Amino acid sequence: MCGIVGYVGARQATLILVNGLRKLEYRGYDSAGVAVWNDGQSRVVRCRGKLAALEEKLIKEPAPGSTGIGHTRWATHGRPSDENAHPHKVGSISVIHNGIIENHLALRQELAAGGSKFTSETDTELFAHLVEREVRKGTTDLTAAVRAALAKVHGAYAFVVMNDKDPSTLVAAKNASPMVVGLGDGENFIASDVTAILSETRKIILVEEGE
Ligand code: GLU
Repeated sequence: MCGIVGYVGARQATLILVNGLRKLEYRGYDSAGVAVWNDGQSRVVRCRGKLAALEEKLIKEPAPGSTGIGHTRWATHGRPSDENAHPHKVGSISVIHNGIIENHLALRQELAAGGSKFTSETDTELFAHLVEREVRKGTTDLTAAVRAALAKVHGAYAFVVMNDKDPSTLVAAKNASPMVVGLGDGENFIASDVTAILSETRKIILVEEGE
C-alpha cells in the first residue's frame, strides 16, 4: 500500500500533490501520477519510476488546476508500467487506490461481459469502471455512485475518486488502509498518511474504518 494525496482549494494542486507524495517516498513505490482538474476535465500525468521522472513529465505536460489527486504505486496487480500507474481514468471518473481488490477476477469478467474495455492490468481500473457505470446509469451524486461501486468490492482499500463534472468534491473510502483528512482555510486535503499534509495544516481528521 503506497501513497495517496488529494487537494481541493484555490491553489495550484500539482505542487501540493507532488510535495505530499515526496513525504511518502520513504514507503517505497514503483510509479507515480496525478490527475488535476482544469476547465471542464482532468488531465492525468503518470509514469513508471521515481517522482523526479513524474516531475520531468509534468514540465513537458503541465497539469494546471486547483483540484487534484496524486498517487505513488507499489504494484500488486499488474507490473510497474506507465499504463498501470495511477490515477486510472474511465469517462469522467479518476481513481487512486491503495490496497487490493480481492474479487478482481470476477469483476473483470463481469465488466468485460458488459462491454468495458481495459487499458491496464490493475485491480484499481475495475473500480473506476464500476463508479463510471453508476454515473452513466444516472447517479449524479458521486458519493452515491462510489457507495454503489464499493458494494461490489471485497478487500483492503483506500480509494479517492474525482469526477470531471464536479471538481469541488473528492470522494474517499477507507477499509483496512489508512486515510486522513486535513482541513484548511478554503481548502481541504486528504492523504494516506498525516506526514503528507502536515506542512499544510494541523487540523487533521482521522477517517474511520468503513467510512
Ligand atoms: N492494487 C493496486 C495496484 O496494483 C494498488 C497498489 C498500491 O497500494 O499501491 O495498482
